[in-house]
Amino acid sequence: MSAVIVVHGGAWAIPDELAKVSVDGVKAAVHKGFAVLQRANSALDAVESAVRALEDNAVFNAGHGAALNTNGEVELDAIIMDGKTLACGAVSSVKNIANPVSLARAVMEKTDHIMLTDSGANLFAESIGMATVPTDTLVTNYERKEWEKHKNYVTGVMENFNSRWAHDTVGAVAVDCSGNVACATSTGGIRNKMVGRVGDSPIIGCGGYADNFSGAVSCTGHGESILRVTLARRILSHIEQGKSVAEASDMSLQYMGERVRGAGGVIVVSPTGEWASTCTTERMAWAAVDNSVLYYGLEPNEKLKEQLS
Ligand code: ASP
Repeated sequence: MSAVIVVHGGAWAIPDELAKVSVDGVKAAVHKGFAVLQRANSALDAVESAVRALEDNAVFNAGHGAALNTNGEVELDAIIMDGKTLACGAVSSVKNIANPVSLARAVMEKTDHIMLTDSGANLFAESIGMATVPTDTLVTNYERKEWEKHKNYVTGVMENFNSRWAHDTVGAVAVDCSGNVACATSTGGIRNKMVGRVGDSPIIGCGGYADNFSGAVSCTGHGESILRVTLARRILSHIEQGKSVAEASDMSLQYMGERVRGAGGVIVVSPTGEWASTCTTERMAWAAVDNSVLYYGLEPNEKLKEQLS
């Protein structure tokens, strides 16, 4: 079977001025992740590499460019999961780590735990020699200005997550040639969140899940809604019951809309390489590589294609 990777740059009402840079950013990240997938035949390495590229790109709300909380500080959340072993690592509320997804992977591989938070996560980062950065270097002028303008969390979320005041999480899912799946998700959360608020992204089964028996999912959107419906696991349960990845994604996002009035987006891949990218927000930038073809889109149901050389 051929390996597949899908990435997203967050589901929200992406304004026109960010449309092109968002699409360019997910395309660049999927290229990076796919190169690793080809070279290492490791879904896990591929999703980490793709998410690191998105965290390093200030256009996206993860790592550099993260959204600010009510105190005007970054607090970053991330998860990574290996579908072969169900090993998982996550961090929440970390402040001066440029690539939280790699810290999450270190939690998975070097500790007996699944999640470390706040100062504990930072102490662990120091103990393994992971470089820390001054927190302010993760804050962009764009985010500082937006934060100054919109100091209201509730209004942003009330607009069904279709507001400019929301911001875009990043994620990746992949399957390698051996049929191993993996997922990774990383975020700065929602602008003006309370200090200490943790959303869906680092929570296993909510912001992401990966299991070689059903597939891998990375979610984005209104975190409190995603948490209530355990969105990632819900999608995989539908796949386990025989639904296609596209049907399972649509049904689960529709359920979240009807049950808790939440909007969001998901990317999914199955162990056989079937994949889908779906959102119920106005836009979501995503890209995929499958069988030497690059697919990408921004508007709901948009699927553009480019042959890879
Ligand atoms: N799900 C993220 C959170 O609630 C936000 C997003 O996807 O943009 O923290």
